[in-house]
Amino acid sequence: MIPISKPSIGQEEKDAVMSVLESGMLAQGKQTGQFEQRFAELCGVRQAIATSSGTTALHIALLAHDIGPGDEVITTPFTFIASVNSILYAGARPVFIDIDEATFNMNPELLEQAVTSRTKAILPVHLYGQVCEMDSLQQIADKYDLTIIEDACQAVGATYKNKKAGSFGTGAFSLYATKNITSAEGGMITTNDDAIADRCRLLRNHGMRNRYQYEQLGYNYRMTDIQAAIGLAQLGRFDELTDRRRHNATFFNERIDTVITPQEQIDCDHVWHQYTVRVNGRLNRDEVNTSLNEAGIGTGIFYPNPAYRYDHIRQVVGGLHLPVVERLSQEVLCLPVHPLLSEEDLATIVDAVNSL
Ligand SMILES: *Cc1c(COP(=O)(O)O)cnc(C)c1O
Repeated sequence: MIPISKPSIGQEEKDAVMSVLESGMLAQGKQTGQFEQRFAELCGVRQAIATSSGTTALHIALLAHDIGPGDEVITTPFTFIASVNSILYAGARPVFIDIDEATFNMNPELLEQAVTSRTKAILPVHLYGQVCEMDSLQQIADKYDLTIIEDACQAVGATYKNKKAGSFGTGAFSLYATKNITSAEGGMITTNDDAIADRCRLLRNHGMRNRYQYEQLGYNYRMTDIQAAIGLAQLGRFDELTDRRRHNATFFNERIDTVITPQEQIDCDHVWHQYTVRVNGRLNRDEVNTSLNEAGIGTGIFYPNPAYRYDHIRQVVGGLHLPVVERLSQEVLCLPVHPLLSEEDLATIVDAVNSL
C-alpha cells in the first residue's frame, strides 16, 4: 500500500533526539529556543513561539488577542475540526462563510456580509498548503478593525505575493506527524507583534513571568526539547522536502485527466500538504476511493463534512446550509503527495487514476 502520508525521518532527526536524551535536558529549553528562531526566519516574522500542538497554538493565539465570550470569529467550515474547536475553547462564536471552488479556501467575496458589530477576528485556513487570497481579507480586516489569525497548520513555507503564510496576522502552525514538517506533535505561533508574542509565551506556561510569579491564568502548552530537536532537523531539510512535494504535484497535474486536478493560484506558491482532486460527473467519489484503495493507493477524504454538521458545533451556530462546501465535501479526494513517494509510486498513482 502506498500510504497517504508518511513522515520523512532521517539520520539527522535520530542523532538530534539522541543528543537531547543524552544531555538530560528534556523539557522546553535551548533546542526549543533555537527552533523558534529558525522557524521565525523561515516565515519572515520577528517572533515564533513553540507550543505542544497546532490546536494549542490556535487557542493561545486567540486568547493573546483577547478574543472570548461575546466575540464572533469568521472562518471556513471546510477545515480540520481544531480550527473551530479553538474558537470554542476561547468562548467565542464561529461564524462560517462558504468556500471558493477553485481554491477550497474561504470565499473572500462572502466575507464582508458576515461582519457584525460583534466580529473580532477572521480566521482563514490556508487549506491543503495554499494561502488564502489575503489582499481581500486584509482590506476587510482594515476596514472593520479585525484581527487576522491564520490557521497555517497545513501551509508552512507557502506564499501569497511572495509573503509567507503566518506573516499576514498572527499565524498558527502544526508540527503533527503528517504535516509538511514535523516534531511528532507540536505547534508554532508566528507574529511581528512583540506584545502578542509576550502574551503567548505567558499563556503557554501557566501565565508565569518569573518563577512562581503568575500574571494571569495560563496553560501548560509547552514543547519539549526532544520535539524541538526533531523539528530543527526537519527545518534543515525544508527545501528538499517541499521541492519533492512540488515535483510530485506537478507530475500529477501534467498527467491526470479523469478527475479535476487542483490549481495553483497565480499569486501563490503552494506547498502541497495535500493533493486534492475533485471527482464528479460520471464518477462517484466514494467508489473511486474504494477502487484506488483496492489498487494499493492510500487516500484521504479531507474533509467529509462541513464543520457545522457536527453536533457540538451545530448547537452553537444552528442549522446552516452553505452550498459550495456541501458539494465539494462530496467530491474531494486526496492522493498521496508526500516526499517519500518514488517515481514508480507516482506512475502507479497516475495509471490507477487515469484508468478510472
Ligand atoms: C493539523 C491541523 C490543525 C491542528 O493541529 P494539531 O497539531 O493536530 O493540533 C489545525 N488546523 C488545521 C487546518 C490542521 O490541518
